[in-house]
Amino acid sequence: MKTVVALPGEGIGIEVIDATCELLASSGLPLKIVTPPQGAAATKSYGTPLPEETKQAAREADGVLFGAAGPSSSAVVSWLRWEMRAWGGVRPIRFFPGMRSPLANPEGIDYVLIRENSEGIYPGREGDMADLVRLMPDLTDRSGRAVKDYGTEGRFAVKIVTPTAAERIARFACALAQKRRARGKPGKVMCVTKSNVLPRSDGLFQETAERAAREAGLAFEHFHVDDAARRLVRFPTSMDVVLCMNLYGDVLSDLGAETAGGLGLAPSGNFGDGGWAYFESVHGSAPDIAGRGIANPTATILSAALMLNHVGLESDGERLEAAVGRVYRDGTTLTPDQGGTATTRQMAQAVVAAFRTG
Ligand code: ATP
Repeated sequence: MKTVVALPGEGIGIEVIDATCELLASSGLPLKIVTPPQGAAATKSYGTPLPEETKQAAREADGVLFGAAGPSSSAVVSWLRWEMRAWGGVRPIRFFPGMRSPLANPEGIDYVLIRENSEGIYPGREGDMADLVRLMPDLTDRSGRAVKDYGTEGRFAVKIVTPTAAERIARFACALAQKRRARGKPGKVMCVTKSNVLPRSDGLFQETAERAAREAGLAFEHFHVDDAARRLVRFPTSMDVVLCMNLYGDVLSDLGAETAGGLGLAPSGNFGDGGWAYFESVHGSAPDIAGRGIANPTATILSAALMLNHVGLESDGERLEAAVGRVYRDGTTLTPDQGGTATTRQMAQAVVAAFRTG
């Protein structure tokens, strides 16, 4: 029996987690699902959105499934990602026939975007220009303009790239590309930076990624983020593993999700050291549709499938993905974002029916 901690977050996170937990509970899989207090309800009774007992339950669980973050639950995701140091973001972008892609030929889109989760400009380090000018007045940009020339009004943000984190995520991406190659994929890492503007920081990430890919015997290519954005729209079926620095991965994974059919369909897994991982949809709490029971549960169901792989139920994870694929192919039980009239629960129930007979 594997224990799963489900944390809804807020907004549509509540609806999609409820529907997914119901699906998992009726799937017949050896799972015990627990829902410790979190979010606004926990703040009411415990004075914090993430009580210690919830952290403990998540640390001890085999799998952690999160819904969607919003203002009252950002502390939950902040703990899952930043405090638990989940440095490797895995965001599969996969089109199943029947999904509503805006592209003319989405058939065959099947790649994984890897997002470096721990550095870059996240989780946000900012300060006043007056302090920067005092500390580093002569730090000069590539046009020769020094920090002090900007004056002391305004703010600055700091971007950090360390060789340790760059190497860690590059090896992680390469291991995934090798695994995919063994299943017939190209075995290619495409690295995304802006090293033409930031040759030292982004350049370090690029060099590290290239070295890791060469050592792993993988094909390697690098594109600046503007060019990469264009390529993800124009040539999405030629992607395999797309390795992104933190901010670029944040932006491009939303773009990629849309090419495959929408934000409601994109899952993610976030991996740290010592087996720590949590799984969540790429989308947020979507206040515009929250509480109406019409959110698409696919991103959360596919995140649960990734979680099943992680907890050692690989073939069940694959079966669950295939069940999602069949529901899209059938096309009769889809939520409004996909052109249907089904509710969140009805769609999840259709997936569990397909899972049971698959
Ligand atoms: P956040 O700032 O937390 O990312 P947001 O509302 O800006 O919140 P999302 O919550 O990711 O961004 O959603 C953007 C839009 O995509 C929403 O307005 C919503 O209409 C749509 N959307 C997102 N997730 C889903 C879903 N699961 N089902 C249907 N539509 C969705």
